[in-house]
Amino acid sequence: MHFRLFGFPVHVHPLFFVVVALLGARQSDLGLILVWVAAVFVSILVHELGHASVARAYGLRPSIQLYSMGGVTRFAPQRGLTHRQSMAISLAGPGAGFLLGGIIFVASLGAPPAVPFVVHQAMRDLLWVNFGWGLLNLLPILPLDGGNVLRSFLQGIRRNPDDRLALQISISCGGLACLAALYYGLLWAALIAALITHDNYQSLARFGWGRRIAS
Ligand SMILES: [Zn+2]
Repeated sequence: MHFRLFGFPVHVHPLFFVVVALLGARQSDLGLILVWVAAVFVSILVHELGHASVARAYGLRPSIQLYSMGGVTRFAPQRGLTHRQSMAISLAGPGAGFLLGGIIFVASLGAPPAVPFVVHQAMRDLLWVNFGWGLLNLLPILPLDGGNVLRSFLQGIRRNPDDRLALQISISCGGLACLAALYYGLLWAALIAALITHDNYQSLARFGWGRRIAS
């Protein structure tokens, strides 16, 4: 599915909807699964629009993709961005989500008590995705937005930086996140944390684990 939103090209792969529906499949009612899919679709789109809007303000030409692993905003060329600009682009996604979550929260306070169940459920899903996932996404683990903020920050404060320290922090935090998810019985979250940590370990192995930290 292709369309343009606020001038940004958006491509949505059908697998996006399949994976999101599976994540919501705990609910027995098909209608509630559809509400969940719609809430995630809108939330991820708003998150990526946050990234894309700030990237465009810095003269880039971003495009948005929603695929099986979530959403991504791509832009070229990346060279020429300052570390602060890179951090601002990374933070704009969760920022847009928190803004949407805040609007939903205020709307839920003003909603009449007899609001239809489907609307109540939509608000609950939107609050969870925008605040819950938004906070998890800020963990300092590459390639999450928090990991990208950490990488840009480290590049900004160090001379001759490479990604080694950012990867070491990502692996440590990813390992802890995996253990925490196992402790709470969140098997999917543990699996995702383990896969991300394995990827980061592979990336770090290309540098040589901990042999020398660039100063
Ligand atoms: Zn993001």
